[in-house]
Amino acid sequence: MTRMGFIGLGNMGGPMAANLAKAGHAVQVFDLVPESLARAIEAGCIAAGDAREAVSGCEVVISMLPAGEHVRGLWLGESAGERGGQDLLAALPAGTLVIDCSTIDVASARRVGEAAKSRGIRFIDAPVSGGVAGATAGTLTFIVGGEQADFEVARSVLACMGQNLFHAGALGAGQIAKMCNNMLLAIHMAGTAEALALGVKEGLDPIVLSTIMGKSSGNNWSLERYNPWPGVMENTPASRGYEGGFMTRLMVKDLGLAMALAEHAHSAVPMGALARNLFNLHASQGQENKDFSSILELYRDKTEPG
Ligand code: NAD
Repeated sequence: MTRMGFIGLGNMGGPMAANLAKAGHAVQVFDLVPESLARAIEAGCIAAGDAREAVSGCEVVISMLPAGEHVRGLWLGESAGERGGQDLLAALPAGTLVIDCSTIDVASARRVGEAAKSRGIRFIDAPVSGGVAGATAGTLTFIVGGEQADFEVARSVLACMGQNLFHAGALGAGQIAKMCNNMLLAIHMAGTAEALALGVKEGLDPIVLSTIMGKSSGNNWSLERYNPWPGVMENTPASRGYEGGFMTRLMVKDLGLAMALAEHAHSAVPMGALARNLFNLHASQGQENKDFSSILELYRDKTEPG
């Protein structure tokens, strides 16, 4: 059993912390939202009154926050909204392992990682793929940036929450790989929604069309595992009013990160840029807190039944 701190218990962090507790670890948790904290306690975690208390006495500390500003606010003490920063690195003894699983900009990941290293603290950026279903089932993919030795130390902890553990390269490399992945995810989700909306408008049943494309060359993760059409699959956000899952505003954030990366690399990303515009448009229509598969509603004929 290892004593661990876990900060950020939202759609992803909540089930991830629960899986660490299920594996027998003592998991001290904190979130700004009391309801999220309460759910984690029900799942066997130990409540902390604030982030500092959550990391106290821990060998391993994990954060799962929305964006770079939150991660810098927590670990470096840079102002993070009205609550101000925490400068939590200063509270950790040398040798602690910090794992940041948030999807954030490369520069923030590197800054926090280098600040940790200067204090003798191990740090890896370890964004994830697999969605809330993967977080709940403990089958996430971890995409890690940092030193090989730190990755090896983290391996047994990550294995409690995920199935596929990849070391992408040096500090920040996990974030780069994650941005490439999410840009592709946005493109195939938008494409899947477009194809389904076209077929349904021409009289096909969305379940029949999904089954056909799922066994044909159009198959992809959005179609097969995260189908955007309500009722095609059980347990997808689409089948529960696009609640839970991966919020459109977080996808917009990730596409912004991918565009910044493309600019830095002088790399052409026409499909990614179009996907960013589509998800931005969708978010601006009051959909920013719905799951990103609700992009279907941009394409869907509002006059059709069901
Ligand atoms: P979320 O908004 O549901 O959860 C974030 C949590 O962080 C919230 O509960 C919030 O209260 C908490 N928080 C923010 N600042 C805090 C602070 N200073 N101290 C304590 N708690 C704080 O978001 P999510 O869907 O869980 O996503 C988290 C990260 O994972 C994001 O970077 C996202 O891009 C990434 N991600 C999400 C998914 C998904 O399917 N939801 C999949 C892969 C990666």
